[in-house]
Amino acid sequence: MAEAKRDYYEVLGVARDADAETIKKAYRKLAMKWHPDRNPDNKAEAEARFKEASEAYAVLSDPQKRQTYDQFGHEGMRNAFGAGGGFDPGDLNDIINQFFGGGGGFAFGGGGFGFGGGARRRRDPSAPQPGEDTEQAVRLSFDDALFGTTVKVRVHAAVACPDCGGTGAAKGSKRSPCKHCGGTGTIRGRGLFGIMQQECPVCHGTGSVIEKPCAKCRGDGFVASDETVDVPIPAGIADGMSVRVPGKGNAGPNNGPRGDLYLRCAVAESDLFAREGQDLVMKCFVSPTLLALGGELPIETPNGSATLKIRPGTPNGAVQRLRGQGVRAIGRFPTGDLHVVLLAETPQGLTGEEEKLLKKLLAAEKDANFPKRTAQRAAAAAFAKRRKA
Ligand SMILES: [Zn+2]
Ligand SMILES: [Zn+2]
Repeated sequence: MAEAKRDYYEVLGVARDADAETIKKAYRKLAMKWHPDRNPDNKAEAEARFKEASEAYAVLSDPQKRQTYDQFGHEGMRNAFGAGGGFDPGDLNDIINQFFGGGGGFAFGGGGFGFGGGARRRRDPSAPQPGEDTEQAVRLSFDDALFGTTVKVRVHAAVACPDCGGTGAAKGSKRSPCKHCGGTGTIRGRGLFGIMQQECPVCHGTGSVIEKPCAKCRGDGFVASDETVDVPIPAGIADGMSVRVPGKGNAGPNNGPRGDLYLRCAVAESDLFAREGQDLVMKCFVSPTLLALGGELPIETPNGSATLKIRPGTPNGAVQRLRGQGVRAIGRFPTGDLHVVLLAETPQGLTGEEEKLLKKLLAAEKDANFPKRTAQRAAAAAFAKRRKA
């Protein structure tokens, strides 16, 4: 491919932390704008833009694909989901049908311009359909994310109504074919871009209606659930990563199985460590005298207490790397390192005795001890000469 693929968030014009609703709105706007039927004079560009936006939406509207994309970018999408990169023409058609009405009439895939000739998948409207994945946020302390923990999460989801078993029909009542659409679930109507098939407004595409709706769920088949679930969080989880909780998403229509819940982790900062990928960076303030003389420095690492050996003449800002002492391996990320940055802290509030000692030291200083200072002074002197001339 000659051209680099644009970032999906950039394509949709949304922030990286945009919620599902924002992403949906952004896609809807772009899809309206670039719909090829609306751009007859500019069909090639419209098609390309429409396809690009649909692809971005296919990924960002799916929590699992979004997470993979967030972590690994386009490359990760190819690795994780095969050559197509996490979507197939059928997916794109499903998305477009969601927004522009389902059924025939609207030929993507097989039609004049396509997403690779994928056949539209017709579904039996009364068959159980898999439920949607959902997403919730959870806040974690830096330490909990580092070491792993178990969080109690209040999960809000739509689950199958216990009274009617998800059918929406009251006991003793049943579903009968929808008269409005003749049981097909779709009707032909005037859509945004001309005649096309649309979801039947009476049966909402299911093809059947309930004779007597269930009193508990008013015929929906769903009720809101509110349960508390213990979710194990693996050690090393990073800010923005999600943990999948299988079977805790929404139930599907017609008593379909529940989707998964994705717990998006927001990790607090630490006052001791900064995280950079799998590495940890720790600033350690030490006395200038220790840097000059060298010695030992006790530190705390994620794996326990340790002693850092400081060489004599260690410069301010020097970094020591402790291999394998960073964030523990998680997923495909290996264990990181700990980087200790040594920073000289100027002593404050000296006693008379300490002042005396330091004054002695200052008086004894010679240029050979400070090569950088010596070089700078020489440069400054040369500059002063040129300025006078
Ligand atoms: Zn019910
Ligand atoms: Zn109908």
